[in-house]
Amino acid sequence: MTLRTRLLLSYLVLLSITLAVMVLALIVFLFAQPVAPDATYEQLATIARDVIADSGLRDGSRPTLAELRDLRLSLPQIAADNEVRILIANFATQTVNFDSDQTFTDGAAITIDSEVYTLPTYLRRSLGLLSEPSFGSFRDADGTRWLFTGLSLLRDNAVLLAEPAPRQTLANVLATFRRELARPLIQAAFIGLVVAALLAAWISSNLSRVLARLVKAAEAVAAGAPDTTVPLQGPPEVRSVAAAFNRMNAEVQDAQRSQQDFLINVSHDLKTPLTSIQGYSQAIMDGAARDPASAAQIIHEEAGRLNRMVTELTDLARLQSGRFSMQSVPVDLGQLARAVGERLAILAQEKYITLNIEAASLPPVAGDGDRLAQVVTNLVSNAIKYTPAGGKIWMKAGVNGSGVELTVRDSGIGIAPQDLPRVFERFYQADKARGPQRGTGLGLAITQEIVQAHGGKISVNSPGQNQGSTFTVWLPLAQSSTVTRRKA
Ligand code: ADP
Repeated sequence: MTLRTRLLLSYLVLLSITLAVMVLALIVFLFAQPVAPDATYEQLATIARDVIADSGLRDGSRPTLAELRDLRLSLPQIAADNEVRILIANFATQTVNFDSDQTFTDGAAITIDSEVYTLPTYLRRSLGLLSEPSFGSFRDADGTRWLFTGLSLLRDNAVLLAEPAPRQTLANVLATFRRELARPLIQAAFIGLVVAALLAAWISSNLSRVLARLVKAAEAVAAGAPDTTVPLQGPPEVRSVAAAFNRMNAEVQDAQRSQQDFLINVSHDLKTPLTSIQGYSQAIMDGAARDPASAAQIIHEEAGRLNRMVTELTDLARLQSGRFSMQSVPVDLGQLARAVGERLAILAQEKYITLNIEAASLPPVAGDGDRLAQVVTNLVSNAIKYTPAGGKIWMKAGVNGSGVELTVRDSGIGIAPQDLPRVFERFYQADKARGPQRGTGLGLAITQEIVQAHGGKISVNSPGQNQGSTFTVWLPLAQSSTVTRRKA
């Protein structure tokens, strides 16, 4: 379903609901309205003529008291004959003197609501009344409302002919509705429909215009124009979609670029040892090598480097994809650092480097002992590798805030300020020309991945070249509830 159809449909539903509520409200309103009393008044006036004839009274003829007494006696019969309720009431004192229904006792109080009403001329003529009849309503004690037509008698007395006030019927209400309200309502609905259609068309064409821009940009990117961006226009929601698209595109481009860089780096770094392996083995085969043993030694070292690189690359790929299964058990980083340090002390001694270890038992962190040992090994071996003979290395482990901190400081060649932010990148090596003994440039990238996988942080600091460097690792303490109590 197109956006326009959806919008139009939703407007139609809204319009129908509004109309339905309005119609219902109007019907309820009409139902609550009192019915016009005209018909009842006219009917009562017609009966009045017969009553006058039956009672022998002449309207406005001022009957004598005796005549009145006779009248009172004959009224019940007259009422029954004419099927009407007859009362004699005093308008001034608002009391009843006679009631054919006997609802009001003689002398009972009545509240008469007079109404100004004029009979149609033809009826007045045919009635031949001398005085104007009065009209109005009153209520019984039980609340029933009656309409009356009154003929004045002696002084303030009047004969009231009464009928229950007509009630509103549904058929009446519906007829009134059809007659008076249906037409304007249908007209209003039609205008609403036209406005809804116009609005739906306007909004949908506006929206589809901006969406079309997005589609075009996406197609352009797919067709090989990666720098395409969508202008940030339109309503805020559309703008945020456009912004998200631009962001996503930029990130995809970044990822692609770093993928390409990575491939170039890998092939370059694999090529260097392969070239020297090929060169030296060729020399041995040709008998051109002056010292075949040392040539074989170089081949051996380069093959070892290739081996390390492939292992590290696999590790890194698995760490980065999160597929590296890591344990989460309590690990005492102090003990672990001391053990690793003591193991590497021999390497340091060979280079006449003093390795100073300051690490007592520490509260546990949750982690993988082997991986954390790899972190310490990488940092200390780097320190040994990048510190000239006779230098010093300090390793220290302690509590810092809600975690434990390990620092490895050396008095070695240091790191230039421009290299500092890049040493954790894959394949980054500050000094590339370092013969077959040089590293792979992957160690710190792996170290950082492991630390981050433990929820920790790693940072490096160096005052400058030949002024030593300090690597700091911080790991959060284990939450006693989340760690299985198993010795690392
Ligand atoms: P590599 O295998 O080259 O050591 P790393 O990822 O471990 O790879 O280190 C990346 C680069 O960071 C190194 O090539 C070196 O230039 C620099 N580096 C690492 N540790 C030290 C250190 N302790 N002192 C000076 N430079 C260092």
